[in-house]
Amino acid sequence: MNPTETKVAFIGLGLMGVPMAHNLLKAGYQIKGFDLNPNVAEKFSEVSGFQFESSPAKAVEGADIIILMLPDSSIIDAMLWGANGQSGVSGNLKSGSYLIDMSSSSPISSRENNQKLTAMGIHFVDAPVSGGVKKAIDGSLAIIVGGQQSDFEICLPLLEKMGKSIVHVGDAGAAHAVKALNNYVSASGLIAASEALNAAEKFGLDPHVVNKVLNASTGKNNTTENKVENFMLNEAFNSGFSLALMRKDLQIALGFIEGMNCYSSLAKQCVLTAQAADEQLGKGADHTAMYGFVKSKS
Ligand code: NAD
Repeated sequence: MNPTETKVAFIGLGLMGVPMAHNLLKAGYQIKGFDLNPNVAEKFSEVSGFQFESSPAKAVEGADIIILMLPDSSIIDAMLWGANGQSGVSGNLKSGSYLIDMSSSSPISSRENNQKLTAMGIHFVDAPVSGGVKKAIDGSLAIIVGGQQSDFEICLPLLEKMGKSIVHVGDAGAAHAVKALNNYVSASGLIAASEALNAAEKFGLDPHVVNKVLNASTGKNNTTENKVENFMLNEAFNSGFSLALMRKDLQIALGFIEGMNCYSSLAKQCVLTAQAADEQLGKGADHTAMYGFVKSKS
């Protein structure tokens, strides 16, 4: 699909959605956007090709590609199929259009959405991302893709405007499964590093030195490499990925692992820890504030 002739609807213009939409605009796509927060329209005031719509139904009208970058599956399901007496936007989707769910959604909901949308003649692709706000800004996100091979090939040129490593992992829902599992492994590393550094400090050790040792040893992980110095030990806690979203991702991963009847001891514990931290730290807390939560407990 030629960018200048492709009409895109972009729903969910938060920390990730705004820079991702900007990269599509730079590539020449025309975007009709919607977010519950109308103030996000200001973030596009200096670029051409963007139109903020007053409802999701208006945004998807006539769109060839619909991108969702929303918090979770309950919001997506309500938007597509309706809730509380309000009808959803699925009836407004153009036959033959492509709905790309780039949020970190539940793989089970995504499979169901795929079935229902396919029956309506809409192509469903799940394409969650990894890399955070920084990579969303420079267009170098890692994008995991689920869906039919032919749908993947059609969507690839557009996805390439937002990401660098783009891997097709299987049928619809597969990418959301892989994403949830990745985020579980990542979050368990964050919790482990927070507990380890806190105990080291209590023992009288310098956590900066301990983290250096971790990074030169087998304890190294994404948290020790990229988060401890930048967001945790300096107590900035501003990585751009919320604790609430991490908690949601862990819940999806646990549900998935349990749904496969697999052993889930650590996943269960991670959910409990994220839940306790989220409840203590409240709305707006960054996931790196897990370190502050751990410190507050001892
Ligand atoms: P965010 O909270 O910053 O943005 C979500 C946006 O959705 C908000 O602007 C909100 O107003 C909007 N929204 C919520 N309900 C809505 C509705 N019913 N209709 C329209 N808009 C609605 O979240 P984010 O950090 O941009 O994350 C978006 C998705 O990407 C999540 O699924 C998250 O797990 C995933 N993700 C985030 C990161 C990150 O580093 N922030 C990294 C990878 C994946």
